[in-house]
Amino acid sequence: MRVSFDAVLLDLFDMLCHLDEEMYREGKRGSAALRRVDAEAYLETWLSLQDPCQRGILFSTENRLEECCRRLGTRAEPATLREVSRREDETLLRCARLHPDALPVLRALRRMSGLGLVLVSNASSAARSLVRHLVLNRFFDHLVFSFELGSLKPEPAIYREAARRARTSPRRCLFVGDGNSRELEGAMEVGMTAVRIERHGVMEPYRKNPSRSWNHSVDDLRQILELFGSRQETGATSAP
Ligand SMILES: [Mg+2]
Repeated sequence: MRVSFDAVLLDLFDMLCHLDEEMYREGKRGSAALRRVDAEAYLETWLSLQDPCQRGILFSTENRLEECCRRLGTRAEPATLREVSRREDETLLRCARLHPDALPVLRALRRMSGLGLVLVSNASSAARSLVRHLVLNRFFDHLVFSFELGSLKPEPAIYREAARRARTSPRRCLFVGDGNSRELEGAMEVGMTAVRIERHGVMEPYRKNPSRSWNHSVDDLRQILELFGSRQETGATSAP
């Protein structure tokens, strides 16, 4: 069915971009060595802090690292914390890759008439520089990050906030994600149309609670363009 939408809400990780797992793990081994702690224990503890980081409770990378050290029974001087945090943030930028279909689709969506674009991401504060680094911010009207809102997908608040910023109702929104954290069910619960993109090579440590239902499924992001009505496809151009 081809319909018109007022806004498209796009997930970030394992949707527009992905992280090189080997490079990511290498970065964690480097941080663990600097702190003289076991690399596997460091990675496990780092990942266990994902929820409070994405809710903005542990706001900065430095906050996360400090808590990580505390749980591992080690103490870090402020200067060391700053240095390891800086390396952690650099590693994130270095190992991030855009999927090849991301930019062509973002450009095509930007050309559609009257369509708002909103990034909706469960993410820690480091994601803001990542989005700038990948030059994704120029395509979006709004960036909705869980760490700023204190709400994570699939909770209703984060979807409603995205629709509110796009000045429309959830029913007029198309949500597209890889389905991690049951984000597609969350979108449908507030009345959005949910599209699942099947991505391969998703980094295992971050895969959790995959969605089991959605309205449409695609294996290339370009296929979502077929969901839009012709009125939007022939709209005015406003590429950034
Ligand atoms: Mg995702």
